[in-house]
Amino acid sequence: MNIIKRTNQDSFLLSLIIPVFNENQCIDPFVERVKTALDDKSINYHMIFVNDGSEDGTEKRLLELSIADEKIKFINLSRNFGKDVALTAGIDFAQGDAVIPIDVDLQHPPEVIPKMISLWLDGYDVVNARRSDQDSETIFKKLFSKIFYSTFNFFSTTPIPSGIGDFRLIDHKVVIELRKLRETHRFMKGLFAWVGYNQIAINYDRSDRIHGITKWRFRSLFNFAVNGITSFSISALRLSMIMGFTISILGFIYALLTVYKTMIYGIDVPGYASLIILILILGGVQLISIGIQGEYIGKIFEEVKKRPIYIIKEKNL
Ligand code: UDP
Ligand code: MG
Repeated sequence: MNIIKRTNQDSFLLSLIIPVFNENQCIDPFVERVKTALDDKSINYHMIFVNDGSEDGTEKRLLELSIADEKIKFINLSRNFGKDVALTAGIDFAQGDAVIPIDVDLQHPPEVIPKMISLWLDGYDVVNARRSDQDSETIFKKLFSKIFYSTFNFFSTTPIPSGIGDFRLIDHKVVIELRKLRETHRFMKGLFAWVGYNQIAINYDRSDRIHGITKWRFRSLFNFAVNGITSFSISALRLSMIMGFTISILGFIYALLTVYKTMIYGIDVPGYASLIILILILGGVQLISIGIQGEYIGKIFEEVKKRPIYIIKEKNL
């Protein structure tokens, strides 16, 4: 890998992109922590909050903060579009030489930002933050994410390393490439991995959410996983073909066996059990295959409409 040190070391601008959805209570502590972590390091930065259709006074608070502090900017989306879309809006408008998406609930400690910047100045284009394993997620969520990452990487040609979320530093040139990806179904972690460039990871300890609860529910986690996999690879379609082949071959062998047995032992007692099992298995496999195809057809349907990815109600940048 060819890493070249960046030269314009003192004059860069850093854009933090913070998607927020009903996070009124978190915003002030977040701004405080960022200021403490970055101000004395004389880093030139601004914070772009992307308000993802909040209904709890987040909008008002952002307006107040942005009037009082020129480092604070905001984009108000017209409704709730989901975190990945909110991040997209932030990336589209961030002017920084480096951009860092970060959660407002302080699960991503701003204290690691100077370390990310120094690696970026060393010449890396993307500095990923990987959460350490001993963090406070529920066992259920940890297990789900393990299964998800291994399934995703099994199917996808651009693997995403486990433990790496959206918290990362991205160089401006990579941001330009990310902006070209205009798909409606956005799986940002996958897109970040897809663009490539010189990437490196550093570890951080993920703490608990400071206020409120996670916005993820099991249903959306499941949707997220299916979406992630089907947006990134067509291998699932191939999988249903492979299942079809395997079952056909097994069926053929079973047919030969049945013919052979009939010829040697004569007509057997009708095999109700084996029949019903075969019908159930085949029916299941067929439905799964149709479901997988449906998932992709649905994606095509959404993409051909070519709707804008998000709508901005107002912005202050
Ligand atoms: N978020 C968002 N839109 C949504 C859901 C979440 O902008 O529809 C933001 C949220 O305000 C937070 C970040 O995405 O800043 C991460 O959300 P959360 O903490 O709920 O997710 P988790 O940390 O559990 O993955
Ligand atoms: Mg969180």
